[in-house]
Amino acid sequence: MGLTGLDIYKQLPKKNCGECGPPTCLAFAMALASGKTELSACPYVSEEAKEALESASAPPIKLVKVGTGDREIQLGDEQVLFRHEKTFYHPTGVAISVSDALDEDELQARLDTINGLVFDRVGQQYRVDLVAITNESGDAANFARTARTVAGKTNLALVLVALDPVVMRAALSEVADQKPLLYAANNDNYEEMTQLASENGCPLAVLGDGLDGLAELVQKIVDLGYKELVLDTGNREISRVLADLTQIRRLAIKKRFRPFGYPTIAFAQGENTRDETIQAAAFVAKYASVVVTSASGKHEIMPLLTVRANIFTDPQKPIQVEPKVYQVGEVAPDSPVYVTTNFSLTYFSVEGEVEASKVPSYILAIDTDGTSVLTAWAAGKFSGEIVGEFVKSCGIEEKVNHREIVIPGHVAVISGKLEEASGWKVIVGPREAAGIPSFARSRFAS
Ligand code: SF4
Repeated sequence: MGLTGLDIYKQLPKKNCGECGPPTCLAFAMALASGKTELSACPYVSEEAKEALESASAPPIKLVKVGTGDREIQLGDEQVLFRHEKTFYHPTGVAISVSDALDEDELQARLDTINGLVFDRVGQQYRVDLVAITNESGDAANFARTARTVAGKTNLALVLVALDPVVMRAALSEVADQKPLLYAANNDNYEEMTQLASENGCPLAVLGDGLDGLAELVQKIVDLGYKELVLDTGNREISRVLADLTQIRRLAIKKRFRPFGYPTIAFAQGENTRDETIQAAAFVAKYASVVVTSASGKHEIMPLLTVRANIFTDPQKPIQVEPKVYQVGEVAPDSPVYVTTNFSLTYFSVEGEVEASKVPSYILAIDTDGTSVLTAWAAGKFSGEIVGEFVKSCGIEEKVNHREIVIPGHVAVISGKLEEASGWKVIVGPREAAGIPSFARSRFAS
C-alpha cells in the first residue's frame, strides 16, 4: 500500500522553503503521493526519511528496458489507469514469435517477413519492436544458433523463450550483449534464471501461477536482489488474461502493491492468426507492456500497430507538423499553392492527395495548435487575417511567380479577409482533401 500525503509529510524537514517547487512541505508531500514530483526535488530529506519514503517516491510501475541502442524498448513506468487522466508513456512492444525448430531457409524467410513489417502512416513510421525466439526444438544448440541468426539479421530487441536454464544459458552465450528479455522464471527454475538475468544484466519475465502465485514468486525474486522484472500470470484464456492485466495495473497504480509494480507480457493465442491479432489488440488496449504473436501478415500487423498508435497518442496533445511551407514533388515558380492547418492528420491527408494529383505544389501549414480546419476556423485560428499574415511572412512570395492560393472549401468564408490581408487571389478548393486530385487536374495540369 502506498503512503498518503500525511505519511510523507511526517518524514519531511518542514522548512517550508519552497525549493522543491510547491510552496510548502505539505504541498510537496501531496504532490509526491500522487506521483507528480520526485523525492529528489527536496535537497533536505534525511537518509532515514529517504529509505522510509522509497515506496511512495518510486514510480507505481517500474521502467524496464529490453535491448540496447537502436534496439532498446522501454516498458512500464505508467502512472494512470485511463489515458484521459494523464497519458500513457510507453507503447506496448509488439513481438513476433520465431521458432528455433525452423530450418535455415524457413528462418530466413520468417525474418524477411518480420523486417518488412514497417509502415508509413500520417508522417510516422510504425514498426514491430521485438522478436520472440521460442525453444520449440528443445535443443540448446538450436536455440543458441537461432538467437544468433535473429540478432544478426534483424534490428529488433529479443525475447528468449525457454524454461530450461541450460538452454537459456546457451542462447545468452550468443546474444547476452543485446540485453534480451529472458522468458521466464517459474517456481521450478527461478533461482537459476534470476542468476542468469543478474549475471548478464538482462530483464527477466516472471511466469506465475495465477495472480497470487505470481505475487509470491515476484517477492522471492526480489528477495534474491533482482528487480528488472516483467510479469505474466500464466493464464492464456483471453478473458482471464485481460482480467489479470487489469488487476495488476489497478493494484500497482491504486494500491501501490509493489509485487505488481512491473511491466507485463501477454501471449496472443488463437485458432488462426486473425484471432491472434484480435487478442493482441485487446492486450494492447488493456494493459500489456509486451504482446507476443505469431501473426506476421501486413494485413494483421498494420491494424494492430494502428490500434497501438491510437491508444498511446496523448489525447491532450494533437499531433502536429511544423508550421511552414512544404513542397510536394518537383515544384517550379508557377506551382499551385494550397493552405491547410498543421494538424498532422489534416496535413498528411492534403499532402497525400496533392501527391496523388501529380501536380507539384506548395502547401502552407498554418499553426493552429494542431487542430483541423473547421475547428481552427471556429476558434479564430484560421481566419483570413492569420492566414494572410502567414502568407506574407513564410517566404512563399519569393518561391512563386504568381499570387493565387487555394483554401479549403469549408472555409470559403475567409476569402475576402484573406485577399485583403495578403493581396493574393483566393481560389476556393474542394471541401474534402479527397477532391484535390480531380480539382488539381482540371485547374492546374498542363
Ligand atoms: S524543499 Fe524540502 S524542506 Fe523545502 S519546502 Fe520542499 S519539502 Fe519542504
